[in-house]
Amino acid sequence: MKGDLAFDPASGAPLSEASSWHPDHGVRVRTPVEHPLAAGDWATREGALTNGELRSEASALQTYYKRVYSKAGADPKSVGRAHIAIKKIKAADDRAFDASVWLTLAERLATKGFDVQWMREFCSPKCPVCARESRYASTSDVKFPSDRYQEAVCASAPSEHGCVNEEIHDRVAELYERAFDEPFPDDPALV
Ligand SMILES: [Zn+2]
Repeated sequence: MKGDLAFDPASGAPLSEASSWHPDHGVRVRTPVEHPLAAGDWATREGALTNGELRSEASALQTYYKRVYSKAGADPKSVGRAHIAIKKIKAADDRAFDASVWLTLAERLATKGFDVQWMREFCSPKCPVCARESRYASTSDVKFPSDRYQEAVCASAPSEHGCVNEEIHDRVAELYERAFDEPFPDDPALV
């Protein structure tokens, strides 16, 4: 994931607060911070430059889940379920954005009886309409519905794309059905 919730797309480790100027790319870039739950071989990630990606590896998403669920006070029994579900979702579509994978995961855990409302806070949804373009502007974040905002609105083109609740729902439902070969619930928890 990118933005405030960015993590290393390969290991799932958090990123440094500080960033350094990267002349080749003309941007400031952060670096992964060693973490006991980091996936894979840390030696390959140490000193890597990244601001997070829209698509991360399955093992990085699994690490991210393990890192954040306890912060949210979520059920430790959900970890094993989440691990398997992430693998299935990524196997169904490895081009899906992390935000879609995360929301699909939340819906899966909800069907298994876990509370998933907390998962909203750990996801930066992207506008599914802008996703049709080849590149995502960083402003295509979506203001996710919450108690205060009932509608998910495209931050990049609010008047053009407006409320994208339905698009997010459809995208997650499609991914869910491909991953689990089961109909998407009529009463989803987050989308
Ligand atoms: Zn948009």
